[in-house]
Amino acid sequence: MEKRNKRRVILFPLPLQGCINPMLQLAKILFSRGFSITIIHTRFNAPKSSDHPLFTFLQLPDGLSETQTQSRDVLLQLTLLNNNCENPLRQCLTKLIKPEEGCEISCLIDDSGWVFTQSVADSFNLPRFVLCAYKFTFFLGHLLVPQLRREGFLPFPDSEAEDSVPVFQPLRKKDLARIMGSKDQAEPLDAYLVKILETMKQASGLIVMSCEELDRDSIAESHRVFTFPIYPIGPPHIHDVPASSSSLFEPDQSCIPWLDKQETRSVIYVSLGSIVSVTESQFLEIACGLSQTNLSFLWVVRPGSVQGREWIESLPLGFMEGLNGKGKIVKWAPQIDVLAHRATGGFLTHNGWNSTLESICEGVPMISLPFVWDQWLNARFVSDVWRIGIHLEGRIERRVIERTVTRLMVEPEGEKIRGRVKVLRDEVRRSVQRGGSSSRHLDDLVDRITSF
Ligand code: UDP
Repeated sequence: MEKRNKRRVILFPLPLQGCINPMLQLAKILFSRGFSITIIHTRFNAPKSSDHPLFTFLQLPDGLSETQTQSRDVLLQLTLLNNNCENPLRQCLTKLIKPEEGCEISCLIDDSGWVFTQSVADSFNLPRFVLCAYKFTFFLGHLLVPQLRREGFLPFPDSEAEDSVPVFQPLRKKDLARIMGSKDQAEPLDAYLVKILETMKQASGLIVMSCEELDRDSIAESHRVFTFPIYPIGPPHIHDVPASSSSLFEPDQSCIPWLDKQETRSVIYVSLGSIVSVTESQFLEIACGLSQTNLSFLWVVRPGSVQGREWIESLPLGFMEGLNGKGKIVKWAPQIDVLAHRATGGFLTHNGWNSTLESICEGVPMISLPFVWDQWLNARFVSDVWRIGIHLEGRIERRVIERTVTRLMVEPEGEKIRGRVKVLRDEVRRSVQRGGSSSRHLDDLVDRITSF
């Protein structure tokens, strides 16, 4: 298709799997609405341009050393990237913004986690939209963290750990304490969040990867915080655009023929996303818990995600053979296809927002095992608000895992949960259909971008 003489949108995702997927999916939606697409990305976690031949990809030097790219400290990585990428982005835009070449740039869309992009966009008179890749409740709430800390939220007595936090519903105090992090994280985290809020207030709009059906209260409340328009366009991957992968790792396609051989809704799918890592003993507890259920499981273990180990070598000798074909472990899965497969009956997940949305959209009930950040809030919504899953409350013990998986997969309680997630799935899917709330917000967004 012709790439010139069309309005162009520039997208600049944070280099994390959970941000790249929705951003590239948004790019596909905008492309289908007639925009040309340029993806500016860092060298670190660069998306595969060959998967998207109709987009232009431009790589920025990001200055991260080999050791820094391998760090488990995401906040540190984001701080370094924000420090290093401003000049490269400025230079890149200077080269791009040449109206005489017949392609006008409409706007820049990037993540809230980029804190220098607003001033860069302003200097080019380029409208900037922020993509919110969190549940919107979390997005609004996490911006309150510095204020809550100043007001003395921490520490609180153990007896209050299960109390709810009125300004950040439905979190419990213990969840919020985990989100607020350790003492040494407090200063850099709060400084970062203050900067995000400050710079975002000047944006032209906020594109939210959620829908009114999932986030009604917080969307209504947002008008008290932000003066710009909010566009809750729904889960981007269920809009009607051709699918292609944005995986940073190669998905193991052998999952699908393996699932084909399993009974309907008989398999528990286990994945903790692209960042979470577990200790060796947690890994072994999960392995034993799964095998003790006698149910089939498909488990994603990313290389390096078991601390101090390469991959799954700490499994007891003969573990896989002893499962008689009932277990399969892969390094990375085609997750959306796995969740959509008739054989998948449940999802043991860390509740990253993408995974949570993908599970809802396929009507798959969840077992929540959150580790960090927004995962605590998503897990509360799954178990306490929508009641479409069971919360493990951080207990990684084989007996708890065995019991919880059995409750979800074979007991009447699981059937009720499955019924509720199907109702929610239908509501969310309806929102992206013509006339639905997400579809209308997307039309508004497209009109707005076109108006620039
Ligand atoms: N994912 C995948 N294959 C896997 C595991 C995850 O394709 O084996 C994808 C998943 O579909 C989701 C993303 O990686 O889109 C993970 O994002 P999420 O927000 O759930 O978690 P994060 O990785 O950011 O912690």
